[in-house]
Amino acid sequence: MVFPEQPRPPPETLASGRLTIDLEALVANWRRMAAFAPRSACAAVVKADAYGIGIESAVRALAAAGCETFFVAALSEGLRVRAVAPEAAVYVLDGLIRGSEEFYLAADLRPVLNTMAEAETWAALRPVGPKPPVAIQVDTGMNRLGLSLPEAIALAARADLVTALAPALLMSHLACADDPNNRKNREQLAVFETVTDFFPSLPTSLANSGGVLLGPEFHFSLVRPGIALYGGRASVSHPPLAPVVTMEARILQIHEVDAGQSVGYGAVEKLAQRTRIATLGVGYADGYHRLAGSSDQRPGGFGHIGETYLPIVGRVSMDLITIDVSEAPQAAVGDWVELIGHHIPLDDVAAHATTIGYEILTSLGARLARRYIGSP
Ligand SMILES: *Cc1c(COP(=O)(O)O)cnc(C)c1O
Repeated sequence: MVFPEQPRPPPETLASGRLTIDLEALVANWRRMAAFAPRSACAAVVKADAYGIGIESAVRALAAAGCETFFVAALSEGLRVRAVAPEAAVYVLDGLIRGSEEFYLAADLRPVLNTMAEAETWAALRPVGPKPPVAIQVDTGMNRLGLSLPEAIALAARADLVTALAPALLMSHLACADDPNNRKNREQLAVFETVTDFFPSLPTSLANSGGVLLGPEFHFSLVRPGIALYGGRASVSHPPLAPVVTMEARILQIHEVDAGQSVGYGAVEKLAQRTRIATLGVGYADGYHRLAGSSDQRPGGFGHIGETYLPIVGRVSMDLITIDVSEAPQAAVGDWVELIGHHIPLDDVAAHATTIGYEILTSLGARLARRYIGSP
């Protein structure tokens, strides 16, 4: 089995931006999520390169802390988990894509079966060696992936098929778990409970991070947090757990700009007074979204240095951001300015960019230097 190469981030001396990824915070967040659901097992969702932080590092840290089950979206990600966690149960949410069966078998990965056709295909496989168990996903109202309720009930009635599949999990996914007041949560719960009655001996799983925070009736046998592990907000009713990712940019240049002048593309923000501008070596190509820039119409995000918050001035460019350092006289060329981290929450940056923490994390750029701290 040949596993794909990981693209290597540059060393810090070659980079104008850097990420610090705190694996101790990741593990602490996983333990907190596990503690919210004390009667359930706690998996970790590590799709999309573990929400951008690096799947190998995340899986190693979480497996060392006792996490035994991982969920990924794509088969390619499953192979990367298997390479660093030889004992773990690894579920692939995207299910069977045509011709992929041999990879599931070779790497002992578990497909999440989302259609009857996938179930038939998997059941018909007669490998020489052992066949990994599967998860059966039921669509309880998201209308995205999974068997419909009637299909799931029909499957339950076919003992031969169920035996051939040897399912290890019955799962579904919540559409509105980040909002405890949304009626859809209870509606999906009711549908899921109907299905679980048809598979009485099967372990069950419904909750993502937000679902864990909805309370014990949503926990079932296994919970599947993702975003909360990475320090992102999982629910409107609950603050995020510990920050995991810090993004910093170097100051490349500092200059004074006169009142009435503008800064950057489009000249969208005119300065009301003479301003000390620092130009930072990170832009939207590094995952700092362009929409978090500032204009005369709309304020943007912030940088942070020392004790001072420094507003972005003008548009975010591909490789550069300009900030007002008038209030931070100590700021000097070569200094690192925080853009995301302990002073500037991920979700604040997301709000300035009119998106969610998930999207900020999963667009963190490949040319940022990366250092991992708190590794087990
Ligand atoms: C992404 C995903 C999760 C994790 O969701 P978070 O909101 O990040 O906690 C859980 N289950 C499924 C099926 C998912 O696709």
